[in-house]
Amino acid sequence: MFDFLSLTLGGTPPAEPHGQIAHLEWQWLDDGVLELSPRRSCERAVVLSAGIHGNETAPIEILNRLVSELLSEGSVLAVRLLVILGNPPAMRTNTRYLHSDMNRMFGGRHGLFIASGETERAWHLEQHMAAFFQRATAVGATSRFHFDLHTAIRGSHYLRFGLLPSLPESRTPSMLAWLESAGLEALVFHQSPGGTFTHFSGEVFHAASCTLELGKALPFGSNDLSQFLAAEQALRALISGGTLPERSLPAIKRFRVVRDLIKHHNDFRLNVAEDALNFTSFGYGDLLAEESGQRYVVEHEREWLLFPNAKVANGLRAGLMLVEESDREARGLIGC
Ligand SMILES: [Zn+2]
Repeated sequence: MFDFLSLTLGGTPPAEPHGQIAHLEWQWLDDGVLELSPRRSCERAVVLSAGIHGNETAPIEILNRLVSELLSEGSVLAVRLLVILGNPPAMRTNTRYLHSDMNRMFGGRHGLFIASGETERAWHLEQHMAAFFQRATAVGATSRFHFDLHTAIRGSHYLRFGLLPSLPESRTPSMLAWLESAGLEALVFHQSPGGTFTHFSGEVFHAASCTLELGKALPFGSNDLSQFLAAEQALRALISGGTLPERSLPAIKRFRVVRDLIKHHNDFRLNVAEDALNFTSFGYGDLLAEESGQRYVVEHEREWLLFPNAKVANGLRAGLMLVEESDREARGLIGC
């Protein structure tokens, strides 16, 4: 049987674009896009994606391992599954992207960017996801999930965390139980829509969706995947129908986004060290950033900074500011 990652990196689809083994059928839909269907009915349709940023290799290796297990019949398939390696040209060159960041383009926003291979690919991935969920619904697999796997550019106070769209589907008790079992240390709840892949799947298809951030970007073969075993086991349980791993970590921290720091001008400057970790915290009144005479200061008693990056293009997000949810607020989120 073929190796999904090797064929994708090589740009060489399998000789036959579809096939079957004892318990599943597979179809190579596109470069790095593989659909796997069990040969029995199921309720769940699951999309797993990685490599939307080409240099985020640990999740790509994890997804490839899960696919290899299924294709070698080392594990069973209990869901309709679409596996996506998002940006093969960037994966081949170990770069985040070649022209523009795909994870800002979904939900039709690719039309706002200068046309490139990435705008075209984002459009194709939207079409593949739509067709997949439509096929799954036609055979009764109506419970939808999407996990988009990433690694962060910089180090983090929390090595493993999830980002959830501002949609009720991503906050159900069963979804939160899955996230707890996946060994995440923190969850970040968005408060407004965005152009990420998981916002798209949540908004358009009502999938329970989450962006998983697993460690820091390293080249292929340099990752310590043992750090992400709980996440891998939880994904395996999701697609094979096994029990979720027991959580062995302290209670998960919950944050919500209170502000997007948007870079408007070339003189935008973040007031943090170049190597500041994700989830670095600031106190009330601290200066976060300034540009063209404008100052951005902390407005809550304590705020946490995520994804600081002053090098983004003008008009894009240079960081997210978070506040921690109180226990009462977190309970309220579970109930909604
Ligand atoms: Zn990423």
